Formats: sequence, structure tokens, C-alpha cells
Amino acid sequence: MWTVKVIGFSVLAASVSVELLNWLRRRYKARKTLNEVIFFPSELGCVEHLLRPSLPYPCYCALPHGVETSLSRLLRHILSASSSLDLCVFSFSNMDLCRAVLALHQKGVIIRVLSDKQYIAISGSQIGPLRQAGICVRSDVGSVYMHHKFALVDGSILITGSLNWTLTAVQGNMENLIVTMEPELVRPYIQEFNRLWEINDPLKHPNSVQAF
Ligand SMILES: [Zn+2]
Repeated sequence: MWTVKVIGFSVLAASVSVELLNWLRRRYKARKTLNEVIFFPSELGCVEHLLRPSLPYPCYCALPHGVETSLSRLLRHILSASSSLDLCVFSFSNMDLCRAVLALHQKGVIIRVLSDKQYIAISGSQIGPLRQAGICVRSDVGSVYMHHKFALVDGSILITGSLNWTLTAVQGNMENLIVTMEPELVRPYIQEFNRLWEINDPLKHPNSVQAF
């Protein structure tokens, strides 16, 4: 009798283990296979439903509604952040992208922004509003351009390419982005972001001006 019970339990345990392994394999594969390419300029389309999902009435702006655009695809990836967003971008003046970052900040997502010290102060830069909202922004202290354009969502999604976070780049230029969760690609970007974040700590450079 006990032998039958032991065999039955062993079969059950083996079955559960196989199912668990299959589930983990599917989950890992699903996460690892997020590879997407987004080209710009973006088609025109309203993104209010992404930026203000709780809007109690339909949006009546003049832009097309219900269309998926390059900008809406980018916004979906950024807004998927649940714990952190690390942004390393040469120029940041796009108001829709700024609103997305502010929305994440209001949700409690930890945000770090690293930008170029010259472009941080250009007309229309959204770095000032980010700082005023309490988001930690650092500008590079080096003598060359901080020319990167990449973002890390939750430390697991890399968004990188030629796109600056500007209206001109989003709506006017031919640009490209790759969105990926490939660990071999994500990991070096995390390391580079952390390296740049540390060496541009304003406490280590008390004489540098962290301009708005
Ligand atoms: Zn609209």
C-alpha cells in the first residue's frame, strides 16, 4: 500500500516539475524574444489614451485616433516601466515623452536622467520640468558630447538607436530604434549607464554647473 502511495507521489512530483520547467522555459523565451525595430518619422496620431488612460471623455483633438504609430509604440514601452527608468539622451525636448516620464515619476517609478550639459539648456528642453518635478537629472562633466540615446526600462528592456527625444526627431527625421530584452545587449548598457551616472555625480564635481 505504502509502495503504491510513494510511486503515486513520485509520479505527481515529476509531473509538477515538468510543468514548472515548461512554464519557466516559456516565460524565459517570451521575455527574451522581445525584439522590435521602430522607424521614424512617426505617423501622426493622438497619444492621449496612453498618457491619460483615465480620461473620462473621448479626446477631441485634431489628430487621428485609434492608430498605432511609431511614437505610440515607443510610449508603450516607456510606460510599461513599473520600477525604474534610466534615460541617457543627448537632447530631450519632446513634450509627449516628457509627459510619459512625469507620469511614471508620479506612479513612483525611480527615474534617472543623464543628458548633455550643453543641450540640457537649449530652448524647449524638458529637463527643467523634470527637475522641477523632483526627478534626478545629471549632466555630463566631460569635454565631449554625451551623445547617447538609450533608455533602460526596469533594468530589462533596452531602447536604443538614433532617436533623440525631440519633436523634430520623432515627427521629422528618419530615425531608428531597437527595443530588446536580450540580456547580452541589455547588460552592457546597464553597466555603461551606471558608470556614467557615477562619474557625473555633481558631488564629485563641485565646481561644475548643472544647468537647467
Ligand atoms: Zn486626441
